[in-house]
Amino acid sequence: MTSTTTTPQSATTAVALSGVTKVYGRGANAVLALDGVSLDVAPGEFVCLVGASGCGKSTLLNLVAGLDRPSGGEIGLAGGVNPGLMFQEPALFPWLTVEANVEVPLKLRGLPRAERRERVAELLRTVHLGEFGRKRPHELSGGMRQRVALARTLALDTPVLLMDEPFGALDAMTRDILHDELERIWSERKLSVLFVTHNVREAARLADRIILLSSRPGRIIYSTEVDIPRPRRIDSPEVAAIAAEVTERLRTEVGRHGQ
Ligand code: ADP
Ligand code: MG
Repeated sequence: MTSTTTTPQSATTAVALSGVTKVYGRGANAVLALDGVSLDVAPGEFVCLVGASGCGKSTLLNLVAGLDRPSGGEIGLAGGVNPGLMFQEPALFPWLTVEANVEVPLKLRGLPRAERRERVAELLRTVHLGEFGRKRPHELSGGMRQRVALARTLALDTPVLLMDEPFGALDAMTRDILHDELERIWSERKLSVLFVTHNVREAARLADRIILLSSRPGRIIYSTEVDIPRPRRIDSPEVAAIAAEVTERLRTEVGRHGQ
């Protein structure tokens, strides 16, 4: 039976997927996007999910986010928390200032005005945008817009972050800076992160654990712990070695499809 539970799994699990399957469409046109995916994210763990384009990474994240329902299997979030989401596009309200964008979740949570102001100021300082509260999104660079999106997600005060290629549209230098920021915020707030990317180096830079998903059907085919001490540099030999190992697995997997 399909079910999505929000009860605590155990003290050692923030996100739990058990035998998750997702089929799109019906009959001859049916696509088996995910096939029996089981995965636990521990509290405070940073897990990166990598795989070729179209292998089901976004599907998996959307299921955990509750944006779509699995065809089979179970998904649970400890304590029934609502996860925070971040996508490649920051999806800010263009007519609102930076402050007002970050304030939206606080308003929805019913926080009083004075407290909202304090929280917005603190969140903008956290993402190093303290001076930019009165700007509108179009006045900011792509990297700054993603910082606003991150601040807005943090305003939810949720311990679980789901990120779908959040830095995929940024240049390498901006991405590098945002990796540092995200690592700092993750460790300060002890967040559990499920981070999707097709960039293997980015995964090796950020992850405690890398999970590799195969294509059609999406199955977990490889998983590795990343024991490199933090803070890490994306251009370090240790990160390059892990990235090379994962790339090799990915290449074997793509070769299997004769592509
Ligand atoms: P990724 O994020 O890894 O690139 P997706 O999760 O977006 O992969 O897609 C996985 C597979 O499911 C692809 O074959 C894609 O075409 C298919 N798919 C994704 N979303 C839908 C949908 N809403 N309807 C039908 N097929 C879909
Ligand atoms: Mg995707």
